Order: sequence, then C-alpha cells, then structure tokens
Amino acid sequence: MTPSDSPLGNTKRTTLHRVPHKEVKDRQMLHQILDAALVGHVGFVQDNQSFVIPVAIARDGDNLLLHGSKASRLFRTLASGAPCAVSVTLIDALVLARSAFESSMNYRSVLILGVAKELEGDEKIQAFNALTDHLLPGRRPSLRPLNDDEILQTTMLRLPMDEASVKISSKFPADDEEDLSWPVWAGNIPIEHRYGTPIPDPRMTTPLPLPDYLERWPEGRT
Ligand SMILES: Cc1cc2nc3c(=O)[nH]c(=O)nc-3n(C[C@H](O)[C@H](O)[C@H](O)COP(=O)(O)OP(=O)(O)OC[C@H]3O[C@@H](n4cnc5c(N)ncnc54)[C@H](O)[C@@H]3O)c2cc1C
Repeated sequence: MTPSDSPLGNTKRTTLHRVPHKEVKDRQMLHQILDAALVGHVGFVQDNQSFVIPVAIARDGDNLLLHGSKASRLFRTLASGAPCAVSVTLIDALVLARSAFESSMNYRSVLILGVAKELEGDEKIQAFNALTDHLLPGRRPSLRPLNDDEILQTTMLRLPMDEASVKISSKFPADDEEDLSWPVWAGNIPIEHRYGTPIPDPRMTTPLPLPDYLERWPEGRT
C-alpha cells in the first residue's frame, strides 16, 4: 500500500483516543486541509526540551514541504534526521454553549509525524516552485528567478505524510438537556478566512495594474 492509498491514523501513535468519532480516515481531507493552510507548527526536541515553531508549508502529493534558512536551528535539527511533528489547524467557528464548560470551537486539524529529508538539485528547485505556487498560484512565472545564493542559503525539506491523523470538529453546542432552558444565546459563530483588497507596495517603481492572477484570486481559501 502506498501512502496515498493508506488510511490516516493507521499507527499506534496516530490513533485518536479522545473523542474518536472526530477522526477522519480519508486522505483527501488531509490534502484539502493542507491546501487551504499557509502555516504549520513544527515540533521537535533539542537537548531534552521540546520546541514548536511556525513555518510556511506546501503540500506536494503525499509530502509536506518546509523551507528555511541554513542558519535556522529548526532546519539544521530537522535536516540532521531528528523526528518532528507538524500540526496544522483551520478554525471554522466559535461554538457558544450555555455553559463555559461546553463552549468550544469547530475546527479541522492535522498532525503529521515523521523524519524529513533534505532536498538538493532539481528536487530542491521543484520544491521552491511548489511553495511559491502555494503562496499565490500563477505568480511564479512573473517573478525574478531564484539565484544560486538564495538556493544555497535555503534548506529545503520534504516530510513524507505516511503517519498522519486528521481530527474534525463540526457541531452545535453539546449542552446537557437540563441546560437547554438556560436563558443565554447559544449557537455557532462561523469564522471566515478571506483575503482583503491588495495594497500596492509604496516602493513599486512603476505603478502596475493588478495582474490577472490577482483579479482571479478567490476571496476565500478555505
Ligand atoms: C482549535 C482546537 C482547539 C482545541 N481545544 C482543546 C482544548 O481546549 N482542550 C482539549 O482537551 N482539547 C482541545 N482540542 C483537541 C486536542 O487537539 C486533542 O485532540 C485533545 O486534547 C486530545 O489530546 P490527546 O493527546 O489526549 O489525544 P489522543 O486522542 O490520545 O491522541 C492520539 C493521536 O490522535 C491524533 N490527534 C489527537 N488530536 C488531534 C488533533 N486535534 N488533530 C489531529 N490529530 C489529532 C494524533 O495523531 C495523536 O497522536 C482542540 C483542538 C483544536 C484543533
């Protein structure tokens, strides 16, 4: 079975124990969440201390791409073969219950465990391209090409998503029956992720109209 066929949460470490009905086994959902997200939080251990660091992410098939400065402690540690955990979360709503205890959030969240591999050569360039395309599709061909120094200064990592889990919470308040008559407004407040109107860089030497890829850019990503 290849990673793309294998179900999620299929190892001891990625089997949900708490509220297991929120587990999603479908790999397509893992892909959808990652494609909608811009940031992942990478956890690793150094000298017996755990750290969690946010970085830009992009999905490449059944791998997650991460990149950073050669000087970064995070990237030096991961490139040396240290195990890591990456968490990605999209918040969909506030769930306002009749009690503080039952109030919560709706979310789609991912955990990926593994060891990343450092990429070089063509694989590294392709990964750069995938990260650039993920940030804003269609823009890459109009950018000043990467130079050798920039490529050299960057560590590019590919984390296979062989061991991953997805947990989704999508519900109304789970108040107990006896609380339903409590006189307080209860319900969900959806959280929308939207892009605003583009603001030109004041240092743009020649004013340019908005490019097509921005005119077409969807308002919401999720
Ligand atoms: C935005 C948000 C807010 C949350 N707030 C709270 C809170 O305030 N209190 C609270 O107790 N819990 C909260 N949770 C749920 C929390 O993430 C854990 O699922 C829960 O605390 C159980 O943790 P555990 O280690 O006991 O899980 P277990 O079920 O023992 O975890 C076993 C395995 O299941 C998978 N897993 C567990 N949780 C997740 C997840 N969220 N996403 C993907 N895979 C997962 C992992 O692979 C993990 O190794 C929140 C989740 C999100 C996304």
